[in-house]
Amino acid sequence: MTARIIDGKAFAQDVRARVAEHVARIKEANGITPGLAVVLVGDDPASEVYVRSKGKATVEAGMNSYEHRLPADTPESELLALIRRLNEDPAVHGILVQLPLPSHLDSNLVINTIDPAKDVDGFHISNVGLLGTGQKAMVPCTPLGCLMLLRDLHGSLAGMEAVVVGRSNIVGKPMAQLLLGDSCTVTIAHSRTRDLPDVCRRGDILVAAVGRPEMIPGDWIKPGATVIDVGINRIERDGKKRLVGDVDFESAAKVAGAITPVPGGVGPMTIACLLANTLTACCRAHGLREPE
Ligand code: NDP
Repeated sequence: MTARIIDGKAFAQDVRARVAEHVARIKEANGITPGLAVVLVGDDPASEVYVRSKGKATVEAGMNSYEHRLPADTPESELLALIRRLNEDPAVHGILVQLPLPSHLDSNLVINTIDPAKDVDGFHISNVGLLGTGQKAMVPCTPLGCLMLLRDLHGSLAGMEAVVVGRSNIVGKPMAQLLLGDSCTVTIAHSRTRDLPDVCRRGDILVAAVGRPEMIPGDWIKPGATVIDVGINRIERDGKKRLVGDVDFESAAKVAGAITPVPGGVGPMTIACLLANTLTACCRAHGLREPE
C-alpha cells in the first residue's frame, strides 16, 4: 500500500484565500480591518522566522500586522504593560506572544494577561477551560489545523480510535480535546507510556507531536491509518540541513492510508488557522458573522 499524501500546503492556501475574501468583505461593508499584534522577546532564530512569516501572511490576508520586538532582558512588568495596552487597543483583535519566552519571564502569567477574546493562540486558561468543556473557545492553531485536515479527509470522525503521542499544552492536550469533541475514542501517549508501539498501533488516527526526529516507524502504524505528523525537527543528513517530522515518512507511507508530509503538511495549516482565529476574534468583537 502507498499512503495518500495529505497536501496541507494546498489546503492552507485555500483557507487563507477564504480568510482574505472574508476580510475584504468586512473592510468594504463595515470599514473594519482585523489586526494581529505579535510580540517577540529576544532573538531566538527559529522564533524570528516564525514571527516574520506570521507577519507576512497577516498582511497578505489584508489584515494589519503589528510587530513588537523586545530585547531578551525585558523586565516582566514591561512585557505585561505592553500586553495590557494591546488588550485596550481597539485596532488589535488578536495578540500572540511568541513562545518560548526567555527563562526570567513567567509564560503562564504572560499568557493569562492576554484578553481571552484576543488570545488567538488559544493558550489562555479561560480558552483552555472553554475548549475542555465543549464551549465556544479560541482553539490553538496547530491542533485546529490538524482537525481540519482530518475532517476534510474523513467527514465524521465519530467512533474512530485516535492516538495522540505528546501531551504538551500547545499541541497534544488540545488535540486530544478536539478529537474527543468529534467523538473519537482518544488515547494520549507520552514519554512514560508503556508499550508505545502497541498503543500507536491502536490508532485509526495517529497524531505525532513529540519533537523527536523520525521516532515512529511504519511498523508502529495500523495498516490504513491516517497519520498526522506535527513534528518539525531540524537535522543534518548527508551534509545537508533538512526538516523531518516525528514519523519515519518512508516506512510509514507504506503502511498508512494517508499521511501528512514534513514540510508541507501541518506546518502551513498552523499559520492559516492563526489568520482564521484573528478574523474570528475580530468578527466576535464587532458582532459580525464569523467565518465557517
Ligand atoms: P513538547 O516538547 O512540549 O512536548 C513533547 C511531548 O512528547 C511531551 O508530552 C513528551 O512527553 C512527549 N515525548 C517526548 N519523548 C517521547 C518519547 N520518547 N516517547 C513518547 N513521548 C515522548 O513539544 P510540543 O508539543 O511543543 O511540540 C511537539 C513537536 O511539534 C515538535 O517537533 C515541535 O517542533 C512541533 N510543533 C509543530 C508545530 C507546527 O506548526 N507544525 C507547532 C508546534 C509544535 P512528557 O510529557 O512525558 O515529557
